[in-house]
Amino acid sequence: MTKPTEEIILNEEKLDTKTIACHMREIIKLVGEDPNREGLRKTPERFEKALKFLTGGYHQNLDTVLNGATFSVCYDDMVIVKDIEFFSLCEHHMLPFFGKAHVAYLPTKKVLGLSKVARLVNMFARRLQIQERMTSQIAHAIEEKIAPQGVGVIVEARHLCMQMRGVEKQHGQAVTIAMLGAFRHNKETRDEFLSLVRSRKG
Ligand SMILES: [Zn+2]
Repeated sequence: MTKPTEEIILNEEKLDTKTIACHMREIIKLVGEDPNREGLRKTPERFEKALKFLTGGYHQNLDTVLNGATFSVCYDDMVIVKDIEFFSLCEHHMLPFFGKAHVAYLPTKKVLGLSKVARLVNMFARRLQIQERMTSQIAHAIEEKIAPQGVGVIVEARHLCMQMRGVEKQHGQAVTIAMLGAFRHNKETRDEFLSLVRSRKG
């Protein structure tokens, strides 16, 4: 039996030191754990896979997500998609914040496929984010793609970086709002949107 330790070192050198898993193995050591312990042995790879999924929005753009699903219609009443679940990571702590987004717009000539609205929310959620920017990005993306009379977005979320560290009371929710066009300038439109969102618990 010759020098098993050297063998291990050689093997580690062969690993791609740039992978997320490789760094995660180091982080596990730094928090005082043993990355070779049975339960943790595959954790770095699992973490890498999870993180890549949770940040998959970086590899998407508006065109791939919407995939041409904008339709011309004669419809000019409010379109609202409520309670879109999302999970994001706060860019300050890389801990989850999650909740619901409510998206509405007043079409001019074009509407979006309804399922695309949820995909759009998730594209922006699956990045390192702050809730305010995510809210505004969703609104501006819709404005850019179908040039409606207005867009309203409300995001309600709980932030684990605050809740787990005890910064915020357990039930605290952050609400962010982006109103563009008619939603900003026309009180009736805005009120209709707000009452439709509130009525969800009926
Ligand atoms: Zn945070």
